[in-house]
Amino acid sequence: MTRIDPCIPDAGCESLRLQVREFLAETLRGYPALARARQWSAADPAFSRRLGERGWIGMTWPRRYGGHERSQLERYVVLEELLAAGAPVAAHWTADRQSGPMLIRCAPDTLAPKIVPGIARGEVYFCIGLSESDTGSDLASVRTRATRIDGGWVLEGAKLWTTGAHRAHYMIALARTGPQGESRHAGLSQFLVDLDTPGVTVRPIRNQAGEHDFNEVAFDGVEVPDECLVGSPGEGWAQVSAELGFERSGPERYLSGMQLMLEMIDSASAQDARARVALGRLVAHYATLRQMSLGVAGLLARGEEPGLSAAIVKDLGATLEQSLPDVAHDLFGRSMPAGSALAEVADYITRAAPSFSLRGGTREILRNIVARGLGLR
Ligand SMILES: Cc1cc2nc3c(=O)[nH]c(=O)nc-3n(C[C@H](O)[C@H](O)[C@H](O)COP(=O)(O)OP(=O)(O)OC[C@H]3O[C@@H](n4cnc5c(N)ncnc54)[C@H](O)[C@@H]3O)c2cc1C
Repeated sequence: MTRIDPCIPDAGCESLRLQVREFLAETLRGYPALARARQWSAADPAFSRRLGERGWIGMTWPRRYGGHERSQLERYVVLEELLAAGAPVAAHWTADRQSGPMLIRCAPDTLAPKIVPGIARGEVYFCIGLSESDTGSDLASVRTRATRIDGGWVLEGAKLWTTGAHRAHYMIALARTGPQGESRHAGLSQFLVDLDTPGVTVRPIRNQAGEHDFNEVAFDGVEVPDECLVGSPGEGWAQVSAELGFERSGPERYLSGMQLMLEMIDSASAQDARARVALGRLVAHYATLRQMSLGVAGLLARGEEPGLSAAIVKDLGATLEQSLPDVAHDLFGRSMPAGSALAEVADYITRAAPSFSLRGGTREILRNIVARGLGLR
């Protein structure tokens, strides 16, 4: 029996929530609706530094890494407020969510204390180097290779769909370091790659919303020192699986289209019964998903493995969010004035939404995880 137990933020969390709200109301005053909707591609290093100064990045990390030793639920509340407000979080998000925790857990003691405090200050940004051409869902078939040399490794290959590589300082890249052997997932390792290293080329790719968010990152004889091997050689698959748990469990997995929801609520007339029913139904779904997502935060807080529950929340969240453009067009299609905030945000989310069930693991892959977790395959 799989349970996601409810988890209620305590009074301390709620008082932190008010501080974050106040900060965001002041900092983002007059920030346009479309910019809020585009928060995933909106990198604003000055904003990230201000969050860092407030102690709202690396919140749960030990102090020796520049962290603030706060609880998972306090962190959750801060993320929820940032996302609901459409704050420009893209610069530091990946580093805060998964690269920092990965380095703290797996990088050598000589490396993590040099890099992680910069993440917590909101000054050092990361990207994720997993996917390649023909290798997204099936990471066991990565072709990027790292070959041992005296004092380090040489990387050859290319990563694809790398979000934010053009503004990141570092990538954590998955590469093949040994044969597959009995397990297809054997022989993979992760490396910290400074993107300024000679031999790294970052090429832009435009997405269908017209933004430059993804990249191809090519490695042509890129040398990294021994200390940049993150974790043990051959353990890359286990490390990536743990990392994906962090990637899939946060409130971003159901708050990516929140700006469209807010615009619809603002635009609906209280007299329109059809709108009341449709929006009320969405609100009920959001309330349930939020409880489930908080439940996953509770699992993390207890040090439990979030993999199965995170996959369920991400799949349900993507399904809900992908229904928003249809609801918007159904309720307001004919009455959306061109150039209005609702029309701009609906247009953007319509083009962005297909990616919600691809990034961080496709719908089918998540359902495979759920089926396996429930003992059905
Ligand atoms: C917005 C966005 C941001 C991204 N950012 C990054 C990033 O920063 N770093 C990074 O490394 N990657 C990133 N990706 C890539 C993403 O992880 C991959 O697109 C995703 O894992 C799918 O891989 P693929 O595109 O190769 O599709 P494929 O794996 O080729 O899948 C194609 C289709 O086949 C289905 N399929 C595949 N295998 C199975 C199976 N075993 N059972 C059932 N169905 C299956 C899939 O569900 C999908 O529908 C990003 C993608 C998006 C959309």
